[in-house]
Amino acid sequence: MRNETLAIHGGYEVDPTTKAVAVPIYQTVAYAFDSAEHGAALFNLEVEGNRYSRISNPTCDVLERRIALLEGGVGALSVSSGQAALHYSVLNVARNGNNIVSVPQLYGTTHTLFAHVLPQLGINVRFAESDHPAAMEKLVDDNTRAFFCESVGNPAGNVCDLEALAKVAHKHGIPLIVDNTVATPILLRPFDYGADVVIHSLTKFLGGHGTTMGGIVVDSGKFPWLEHSDRFPMFSEPDASYHGLVYTDHFGPSAYIARCRTVYQRTMGSVLSPLSAFLLLQGIETVALRIDRHVENGRRVAEFLRDDDRVEWVNYVGFEDNRYHALAGKYLGGRACSLMTFGVRGGYKAAAKFYDALKLIKRLVNLGDAKSLACHPASTTHRQMSADEQRGAGVTLEMIRLSIGIEHADDITADLDQALAAAK
Ligand SMILES: *Cc1c(COP(=O)(O)O)cnc(C)c1O
Repeated sequence: MRNETLAIHGGYEVDPTTKAVAVPIYQTVAYAFDSAEHGAALFNLEVEGNRYSRISNPTCDVLERRIALLEGGVGALSVSSGQAALHYSVLNVARNGNNIVSVPQLYGTTHTLFAHVLPQLGINVRFAESDHPAAMEKLVDDNTRAFFCESVGNPAGNVCDLEALAKVAHKHGIPLIVDNTVATPILLRPFDYGADVVIHSLTKFLGGHGTTMGGIVVDSGKFPWLEHSDRFPMFSEPDASYHGLVYTDHFGPSAYIARCRTVYQRTMGSVLSPLSAFLLLQGIETVALRIDRHVENGRRVAEFLRDDDRVEWVNYVGFEDNRYHALAGKYLGGRACSLMTFGVRGGYKAAAKFYDALKLIKRLVNLGDAKSLACHPASTTHRQMSADEQRGAGVTLEMIRLSIGIEHADDITADLDQALAAAK
């Protein structure tokens, strides 16, 4: 089935006990064992079933199956936020003394995690000069355990050449981990281009209504962990924390996501609540429709801004003169996301006046809501960075980031128009 259909039906069949058509919210912590023997078999992973909601929950399970289907992966693990998903995705492959190589264009908190938090655990993140595969390859050494990128960078708007990045990563026997939050599987499925792991903040376009935090790690099932067991012994050697379980033996192609759940979710517990999973599933049902309108409105707004001389520049991959236009053609089917940045003529002061004058468009640090949103990254999401780091992430002082919603396009441009007038 296609993604429009999977978004509505994927991962769920009418509940056999109650015949409920909507996905039930299984608001329970634990699950009863039939007997001591049944409990033992569950703990030995000999039979399928739920034990405790930190490890699995039937409502979250539907969400996991649905996203795995949308991305074309073998399995997924839902967690409480996009940041938790990022954290787990890296911990699952890198240990103290290892490093990963990342593109520089990152979401602000991801940059903080990589530059300041993971190094405290002995995992260094090497930031490439650019998102070019050659710039990434230059930083690889014997201790490198993954490449990391955002398929579409937030807020830089760069589109990564996933096929080329995956090729270089695989040449060095390491996986490519992709944050696909901005594109969503409706515009781009990174596994189709060789990526090995995808993570999402479900908080954004997938949930789509700005009501619910959530994250997910998705496994392509294709990375040959056994072949590279010198670098990744955690998948093919007995796990002392789980009475000698060998993930590649027991789970085959799902070794990565099984270990993510069994080791990190079980012991660190960034659990998604079943109610949140339900709310996110409600959002996901309409994601394909919403993305259509986001894309259409995004183009209308980008053209409005480009044609207005109160605007200094517009960074929108839908324009032919954008340096990522060709990559957007290949990876997004030419359907540029509704995330864009622009500079108000008159620098920081004019940008602040513009920002303060917005009425319909909300001032906040979120994206991917049905509502149109505006953010000033330099003072908020990317505030913790040095000026150099901000530049690397594509953030400038006068820059406004827009996430265009699904309102009527004329109402959005009218708000921009009056705010630009106020900035003059
Ligand atoms: C928001 C965001 C995150 C973090 O997700 P949370 O759900 O807020 O933790 C990660 N990556 C990108 C690209 C984001 O936009």
